[in-house]
Amino acid sequence: MHNIIPYSENAFDLYKEAVDRKDDGESKNRLVAAEKTVEALYKEFDEHFPDNSLRLIPSSRIKKPLRDDLFDMYGYEAAIVKKVKNWLEEHNPVTVYGVCQHCGIVPFDTMDHILPHQQYAEYSVHARNLIPCCTDCNRRKNEREILNLYVDFLPDVEYLFMDVKANGDTIDLSFRLDNSKGLVQPDLFRRIAAHYAKLELFDRMKNVATTRVSGFLTQIKRTYTKYGRQEVIDEINEDVEELRQAYGYNYWEVAFRKGLVNSLVFWDYYEHGRLI
Ligand SMILES: [Zn+2]
Repeated sequence: MHNIIPYSENAFDLYKEAVDRKDDGESKNRLVAAEKTVEALYKEFDEHFPDNSLRLIPSSRIKKPLRDDLFDMYGYEAAIVKKVKNWLEEHNPVTVYGVCQHCGIVPFDTMDHILPHQQYAEYSVHARNLIPCCTDCNRRKNEREILNLYVDFLPDVEYLFMDVKANGDTIDLSFRLDNSKGLVQPDLFRRIAAHYAKLELFDRMKNVATTRVSGFLTQIKRTYTKYGRQEVIDEINEDVEELRQAYGYNYWEVAFRKGLVNSLVFWDYYEHGRLI
């Protein structure tokens, strides 16, 4: 997971442009008439955004038919959403934009609403209420609160680990969070743990990691054959620092690589030719 730089320009201007682009009709008339109301609501959002207190904003305040007009402004291919995506792409590193940072596993293919679209139709196209997300994360989130990667600053300390256990002919991988050294502030750690639980990240990381073992073995083979175990460990530790810079300190692949080379079980299996 990596923090994402949020849209930093005036979100209400983008919204107004989107209303202006709409075809004339009753819906547009209602939206134009409600412009002042929506402007005040946008202001309220922007006041709560920096300290991540968005959930203090009351829900379901806008009634039909205006609620539906606002709700319908969102679409993944809508021009306003494309503008937000373009802005985020331009202002975030290439390794951050494109990958779903909620899991770090797959590319994003949708925009998640930080305040749910259903209860907060007024923010359905607020640029800072939209965050890139993959369908898997979006589905699991199920209107429940997860980390807001725009403003929940992730510390550069290690809290994600992968263990390797012997399981007959093969090895089992499992991910876990650990803050026993107290490096992460307890409230933030509690929310990080809730994020992992809601998005079922341990299982999803285990699945992707298991498919990457054979590629990892291919990668280390040459170095191991030529220089031995310690050189592989040193090489992987260097890779890990690069991955951390690019994808976040606790990127799953960092835990995966470190977990393997630091595991005696892994080396026992590897050196006895039990991993193919
Ligand atoms: Zn995801």
